[in-house]
Amino acid sequence: MKVLVAVKRVIDYNVKVRVKGDKTGVETANVKMSMNPFDEIAVEEALRLREAGTATEVIAISMGEAKCSETIRTALAMGADRGIHVLTDIELQPLAVAKLMKAIVEKENPEIVILGKQAIDDDSSQTGQMLAALLGWSQGTFASKVVIADGTANVTREVDGGLETVALKMPVVITTDLRLNEPRYASLPNIMKAKKKTIDQFSPEDLGVDATPRLVTLRVDEPPPRIGGGKVADVAELVDKLKNEAGVI
Ligand code: AMP
Repeated sequence: MKVLVAVKRVIDYNVKVRVKGDKTGVETANVKMSMNPFDEIAVEEALRLREAGTATEVIAISMGEAKCSETIRTALAMGADRGIHVLTDIELQPLAVAKLMKAIVEKENPEIVILGKQAIDDDSSQTGQMLAALLGWSQGTFASKVVIADGTANVTREVDGGLETVALKMPVVITTDLRLNEPRYASLPNIMKAKKKTIDQFSPEDLGVDATPRLVTLRVDEPPPRIGGGKVADVAELVDKLKNEAGVI
């Protein structure tokens, strides 16, 4: 059973993101980029499925500019078997990514596709759901536990007020939540081994997909600066401020 894993190259989560001067987007030049944290969890889960004997091959897929191949190498160094890079300089939006993933699914015939529940750059949280809809497959979103047995994927999801476990018919699209697992670090020997692993490259045209963006970003603004707190002398002053300054009572 093959498992496909989507790995997006995003601004590293430790970086303080800055808006470009012309407000068309955020600054990415000379900024540290890394694999989307939820996708590290997706790679880890796929590797665990292979180690448990459920999966036979783990294929890491990234889409976007040339440097996305570095993100694929990271997945290969963690232990993925091979990579696929959809190379394009077009800004890829969730629907385009889902269509490209569908085209790869049709080439590779996996039983499981694992994506992050959301990319920390656009925060769309749409791609996995769109992919499941386009394929007509079951979907287990925001997974905090995955058990595959007898042609069924049992996916536990964190919902308001507790946990929900759904039994899904395979093939299945799964999106990962933070508590699914703790991703491994790549060891030095595995980083060396990863250099020899194959990464196939396609363009959206090769896959027969029109990846043109459908949504236009009008402008991007920094959040307003936080106003510092203040001390009040007594309860009467607090009530007065809440009533007359904050207008909340
Ligand atoms: P989003 O719907 O944009 O929040 O992204 C959800 C998930 O879709 C991510 O965590 C990735 O697993 C996958 N994904 C989105 N964009 C890409 C991309 N350009 N390359 C690879 N995977 C992607």
